[in-house]
Parts: sequence; C-alpha cells; structure tokens
Amino acid sequence: MTHQPVSTAGEGRVALVTGGSRGIGAAIAARLAADGFRVAATSRAGTAPDGVLPIACDVTDADSVDAAFTTVEKELGPVEVLVANAGITKDTLLARMKEEDFTSVVDTNLTGVYRVIRRGARAMTRARFGRIIVMSSVVGLMGSPGQVNYAASKAGLVGIARSVSRELGSRGITCNVVAPGFINTDMTSVLPEKTIADYEQRIPAHRLGEVDDVVNAVRFLADDATSYITGAVIPVDGGLAMGH
Ligand code: NDP
Repeated sequence: MTHQPVSTAGEGRVALVTGGSRGIGAAIAARLAADGFRVAATSRAGTAPDGVLPIACDVTDADSVDAAFTTVEKELGPVEVLVANAGITKDTLLARMKEEDFTSVVDTNLTGVYRVIRRGARAMTRARFGRIIVMSSVVGLMGSPGQVNYAASKAGLVGIARSVSRELGSRGITCNVVAPGFINTDMTSVLPEKTIADYEQRIPAHRLGEVDDVVNAVRFLADDATSYITGAVIPVDGGLAMGH
C-alpha cells in the first residue's frame, strides 16, 4: 500500500454555505474561500464574508432556495460542496412551548436542510461528485431541557444524512453530520453565565468550543480526499457527549 500525503484537494470546487452571514457559517465560508473553493453564502440578511458571493435566501421557502442555487450556478457553477448550516433556536420548557415554537424551528433546521439537499443533489448526481455536510448539535444526541423543538430538529438531521448516504453513496456523494457542542457565537452568548460555567465543568476539555474547532471538521469533510466517509456523525464538543 502506498502512503500519500494528506490532500488539500477541493480547491476550485464550488461550495454553498447556508447561514453564512455570521457565526459558524461565516467562518466556514471564509475558510473554504481562503482554501481556494469558489464560495457562496446564503442567509436572510444576504451578507457574507469578503471573497464570498452573498445571496439572500430563506431556507423555509423552497422557491427562495431554488433561486439561490440558480444564482450560484450562473455565477460560480453547479454546487459541489453543500454545507447546510442555517439554524435557529426558540428555547422554552415543554409546558410553555407553543406549537408554532416547535414547527418554526423544525421548518428552518430540519425541513430547511431537506430543501437545500433536495435542490443541491440534482447537480451532484449528474456530476457524480458531492460533499454534503449537515450542521446538527450535541443537543440532538443528548437532549436538553427547554429544547424539545431544537433537539428534535437536530436529531432528525442524522436520519436525513444517513438516508441520503444510502441513496446517493454510489454516485460519489457523501453526506455527513457535524455535531458541535457549545461554541462561542451569538447563539450561545445569550446563555446565563451560570449555565456556561456549569457546562465548562462538565465538558472534558473544560472550555467552550471556538468557531474554528467546527470549521476544521467541516473543511475535512469537504475535501476530495474524504470520499470514503459518509453517514458519519462527527462530534465537535470537547468530549461532552462522548459520541452519543
Ligand atoms: P448564528 O445564530 O450565529 O447564525 C445562524 C445563521 O443561520 C445566520 O447566518 C442566519 O442568518 C442563518 N439563518 C437563520 N435562519 C435562517 C433562515 N430561515 N434562512 C436562511 N438562513 C437562516 O448561529 P451559529 O453560527 O451559532 O450556528 C450555526 C449552526 O450551528 C446552527 O445550525 C446551529 O444550530 C448549529 N450549532 C451551534 C452551536 C453553538 O454553540 N453556537 C452548537 C451546536 C450547533 P439570517 O438571520 O440573516 O437569516
């Protein structure tokens, strides 16, 4: 068996990152662009880091998703790397959780991912190449009080990714899940200090994660070289969930 150096292949490929206006998604888009991918980032705000094509797109609207892909196809070419990262929280205890709190989170975090994968998979199937990376959460694996809606949406992504892997694996398309723990972003900045301190104690790494911890996992899965990894759930959580 010959040993090859770790590849940085992927340069020149077209990538689309949903939820790329800030936080984890913006950092992923910026890293892929820095590594030579041709990158578009979508969000409702329609902003993106320097060097990334910004596109306004709401993942709860199938027409908006279709239009975003059409724009990327015209400007950059067919999407080869899809990072389905857009997500929201509407935390509250079950007793107070209105049905709309549940369905709106599922519509963005789970059905939104179905919408972008369904649209993106067409061109990938034709090209017989694709890298799909889905942003779940440790909460989808462990559960969390006050997050029945969010946990349901994030757990559902594992089922999507594994089914897509089985359907499209023979076409050179991989579909993997990244499950971050608590990462320093706008989403976690609203948590009470005590909650953060409690988590720092429980996390074997004894710290919250940084955006780059997640970016590195996504970059790995976006690479041409990771063609034999699919249907995997990669935790980026400092050991919090221990792979569960
Ligand atoms: P942010 O709130 O900082 O960013 C969320 C991104 O999603 C924004 O770009 C936002 O843009 C976009 N977005 C939200 N709703 C929609 C929509 N309907 N259509 C299109 N884009 C949308 O979150 P993070 O960066 O912290 O999180 C990114 C992902 O990582 C999420 O899926 C989150 O669940 C997941 N995650 C985060 C963790 C953390 O600790 N931060 C831990 C585990 C998982 P806009 O509002 O302009 O639409």
